[in-house]
Amino acid sequence: MPRQGETSAKGLVVLGGSREPRPPGEVWLVGAGPGDPELLTLKALRVLGTADVVVHDGLVSDEILDLAPPQARRISVAKRKSRHSYSQDEIGRMLVAFALDGLTVVRLKGGDPFIFGRGGEELEACREAGIACYVVPGVTAALAAGASAGAPLTHRGAAQAVTFVTGHAAKGGEPDLDWAALAKANQTVVIYMGLSQAGVIAGRLLAAGRDPSTPALIVENASRADERRVLTTLAGLAAAAEALSGPALLIFGEAMAMAEAQVLSVPPSVRSTSPALRASRGGR
Ligand code: SAH
Repeated sequence: MPRQGETSAKGLVVLGGSREPRPPGEVWLVGAGPGDPELLTLKALRVLGTADVVVHDGLVSDEILDLAPPQARRISVAKRKSRHSYSQDEIGRMLVAFALDGLTVVRLKGGDPFIFGRGGEELEACREAGIACYVVPGVTAALAAGASAGAPLTHRGAAQAVTFVTGHAAKGGEPDLDWAALAKANQTVVIYMGLSQAGVIAGRLLAAGRDPSTPALIVENASRADERRVLTTLAGLAAAAEALSGPALLIFGEAMAMAEAQVLSVPPSVRSTSPALRASRGGR
């Protein structure tokens, strides 16, 4: 092996030493939580500190991005209306390409990577390319929304189950949900990406038999400084949604009677006569 500056057997001058192929790097799918940096996990913070590249979406706040090393490259793959948005395939290829170049890639996502976060597709892209991929869970928006409103998503006697659904239809238009199942009482339903479809969703649920006076809460920007919460009923959901622009969750169910929020078109009876609420207040 010729040393630097020497001529090799093939007559080539070796300038910078031989470049060994770098061992592949790795991809971390990291949940950034709902916005408040204090809701990052310690593990998310540690992994972010090792990043060579941070590929993030639009829901990740600047305060959290600032926790990455200053020299780490930051790439936004936020959905944009006017400019080119990266397709899911392009994002997968980008993560793989950086990792093949030997870099530690942190794919930073709002909330949890595996709750409506398309983390599954990115994990598959890494697996297909033989790239090591690890997942760090995050606080999903529903948990932050319930916490800040003071409304438990499950509650003895009022919500024996909680279901997370998407209000976004794969082909646009109306979401294709199991309305009969969601219309059953005594459960909480959290709808992600449902703000623009609030009227359709409420209409379907009412038609399927859910009580129009079921408490409904909309939480916009949960855990952020500009968080807004509106408490209404299923019957008032569509009107309440019009005042908000998102990102927001629609949450309905008997336990939402406990929510502390700006009250909009809630008949006084929801607050004073809800059995769940009375029970939670010790029967007062
Ligand atoms: N992976 C994310 C969800 C991504 S889907 C998570 O686990 O939270 C995007 C949708 O999430 C938004 O349309 C909105 O419905 C919801 N969302 C995300 N962050 C939110 C926040 N801080 N407050 C309210 N809703 C939020």
